[in-house]
Amino acid sequence: MQPDSDIVPLDKRTPGVAAIEPLIFPRLDRLYTRRAEKLRALTESEEENTPLLNSEYFLFLAHLVDGQKKFVEQFPFNAADAAIIRNLAKDGYGQTGLEDTLLALTVWQSAYAQLMEDLRPHLQPSVATALIAALDTPATLSGQAALLLRGQYDQVDPGLAVILWAALSVCWAQAMSQHEVVAGIGQATHCPCCGAPPVASLVLGGDREGLRYLQCSLCETRWHRVRGVCVNCHSSADIQHYSLYEKAPEQAEACGECETYINVYRLDYDPDLEAVSGNFVSQILDGLVEQEGFSGFGFNPFAFPG
Ligand SMILES: [Zn+2]
Ligand SMILES: [Zn+2]
Repeated sequence: MQPDSDIVPLDKRTPGVAAIEPLIFPRLDRLYTRRAEKLRALTESEEENTPLLNSEYFLFLAHLVDGQKKFVEQFPFNAADAAIIRNLAKDGYGQTGLEDTLLALTVWQSAYAQLMEDLRPHLQPSVATALIAALDTPATLSGQAALLLRGQYDQVDPGLAVILWAALSVCWAQAMSQHEVVAGIGQATHCPCCGAPPVASLVLGGDREGLRYLQCSLCETRWHRVRGVCVNCHSSADIQHYSLYEKAPEQAEACGECETYINVYRLDYDPDLEAVSGNFVSQILDGLVEQEGFSGFGFNPFAFPG
């Protein structure tokens, strides 16, 4: 692993073949630093042809990620809030009263307020004012947060959704970072800690050469899944890998059985890759795979539909 990687080195105190860790929790400060750097690098990209592929948007996202890093550094996360969030995830977001629990849980609202404070100079004044005003109606904002947690993304305004997701994510990531290992991780299509969909599949390098983990779009946890098996339907009958050139670090793994695909980032080829920013780089590949009839299984929290 790179010295500045957000992936913790393997514990070498135990001699012999190391067991595969079911979960890997990121070093959040390094993850946010890497993600913001990668998003800033994308602002230099020459391909500006869609609303989600333009330097202004990438710069906005880089400021948003800077804000998440600052929140982790400046606001100590307390154990009681972490326990409430872990219980919410354990009971599932279909529970009645989710909105009320979110309303009473102020930590994510503080995260949203701080992110907006930092973003304000980088947004059009009217947009910033409207997004900050959302804090004046916390019950409505809690309802929107509940919709995001339930995966009903199309019911939330895309501009609000990106910032709201970032606020939830920075809290969920800290709450889950001490999550105990639960049964069934090896088959989990959604995050075994928080229930959110994966951003992408990572093939690790270094001490964990060749191991595949899915990365959570909400809490950033990585969970182990064996390779050669569809992450969605578990079939190994018809798995194909697509890439724009041979040995490309950005690939797509498609399954002919359930006709879905997931982006794969080969950290064994390029340890610098980062899943969320990588999702924007993969858009050309995504388009080609989708033309073949596959639909994306991964979820990019910075590219809400709308
Ligand atoms: Zn998660
Ligand atoms: Zn499948």
